[in-house]
Amino acid sequence: MKINQVYLGLGSNMGDRQANLALAREGIARELGPVVALSGIYETAAWGLTSQDDFLNQVLAVDTPLGATEVLAKVLAIEQSMGRVRKVKWGARIIDIDILYYNHELITLEGLTVPHPFLQERRFVLVPLAEIAPAFVHPKLHQTNAELLANCPDTSEVLLKG
Ligand code: AMP
Repeated sequence: MKINQVYLGLGSNMGDRQANLALAREGIARELGPVVALSGIYETAAWGLTSQDDFLNQVLAVDTPLGATEVLAKVLAIEQSMGRVRKVKWGARIIDIDILYYNHELITLEGLTVPHPFLQERRFVLVPLAEIAPAFVHPKLHQTNAELLANCPDTSEVLLKG
């Protein structure tokens, strides 16, 4: 059985944010496979709409036998099971789970783009990603996560919470 390594970016800015991240991690471990690395939890001012509560963000590496589209279906199901309400684009969310990388593959399907097309623009993704996988090379941009972070134009503060 082929095991694939997936990097997932988690974010929450509603309710008990720590508990939301914990519940998402449990669902991911149950539905996808073991979490083999996890970053610290970082707090970031909301991006896009700045009037909302701050986000907690965390990045996980997961070993999974699932294909990329199956991973997407599982993470969407976890988001839905946690009662994610998708009313406003960029609006408040109980949990958001993004597929950042799937092995070193480039995937362009309707509804799924991997690597995540904006990861290089967001410090709240790159800071935790560079913490757990600094030397991982982005398969399209050909830079490591540490280099992407050093070159990232985003200046928002991303503070380690624990
Ligand atoms: P949002 O959570 O609002 O950023 O958007 C989620 C939607 O983006 C999902 O319904 C997916 O179909 C789509 N999508 C495209 N690429 C990705 C990716 N790499 N990770 C997660 N969702 C993705």
